[in-house]
Amino acid sequence: MQNDYYRILGLSRQTTAQEIQEAFERLLQQAPPDAQELRRSLSEAFSVLGEESQRAAYDEYLHGFDDSGHESGPAAPVLEHDLEIDFEGSFFGTQADFEVVSPELCGACGGRGHEPGTAPAACPLCGGTGRLTFVRGGVRVSATCDQCAGNGAVIRDLCKPCGGTGRVSTPRRVSVSVPPGAEDGQMLRVKGEGAPFPAGSGETRRGDLAVWLHVRPHPLFSRLGRDLVCETPVPAVTAMLGGEILVPTMAGPVKVRVPVGTISGQVLTVPGQGFTRPLQATGDLVVKIAVEVPVSLTKRQKELLAEFSSEDGHGPQRPRTSFWAKVREIFR
Ligand SMILES: [Zn+2]
Ligand SMILES: [Zn+2]
Repeated sequence: MQNDYYRILGLSRQTTAQEIQEAFERLLQQAPPDAQELRRSLSEAFSVLGEESQRAAYDEYLHGFDDSGHESGPAAPVLEHDLEIDFEGSFFGTQADFEVVSPELCGACGGRGHEPGTAPAACPLCGGTGRLTFVRGGVRVSATCDQCAGNGAVIRDLCKPCGGTGRVSTPRRVSVSVPPGAEDGQMLRVKGEGAPFPAGSGETRRGDLAVWLHVRPHPLFSRLGRDLVCETPVPAVTAMLGGEILVPTMAGPVKVRVPVGTISGQVLTVPGQGFTRPLQATGDLVVKIAVEVPVSLTKRQKELLAEFSSEDGHGPQRPRTSFWAKVREIFR
């Protein structure tokens, strides 16, 4: 089997959930930034193996393969669909209803491709055997017939609605539940919502639908792994003297204490306000502080600040000290 999710993550089938998680994170970190295809297959593998119910379904599916690595039944085609969801949907989870265009079996010919009432004729090139035999270099060689693709039959009266393909592109509504914490680029595999395919002995089954998620960016928040990140302005005086500020979370604003002498770029953490992921602890809200300097000052404020600045030892001590320490470090 080519795309064995266990093999992609370098694991055996007896592996633990913890090991799957670790292997995924390690491989994703090691993947070069431009290795889109690799990232996509890692994400696909983890989206299935990382969730208990999906992994169980996948393990069951693997039983359909024999030891030689070949599928015992005909290959189930996977129908793909790109789904855009908003940031809130990826945070809280959401129910998505959308239309997929699926190659459904043609109703007029039942997928056979020839006009009802007519029958396919024996292929004139191979005489209905599906194979061509010729002599090359004094050796008899047998190959699959090009004209009938090995079927031995050609259709003379093509079914009009499907043009002989046996399939008609048909829109179908699908409903998918997106779990909380779903990520941009993640794939959700929806069993039995793909295109129909012949499963042998006249039976028709439906393959899976692969839904690729695209998360729209949020004006306030961004995502870093499990953490929700938000840049929050803090008035200069609050940053210097310390105090409380209101910080937005996905569930509404919360009060956060700003310590005395907070500087721009400093990070405050609100625990448990990040993303939820299966098998992981909930992430945090990471508040990046941006100290705001007032743009217009009254005459009195300017006087007070001039006075403040002239006081010995009350300059912007910390940033300056660390700044000059760095300069000395570099030009030593
Ligand atoms: Zn047809
Ligand atoms: Zn033929």
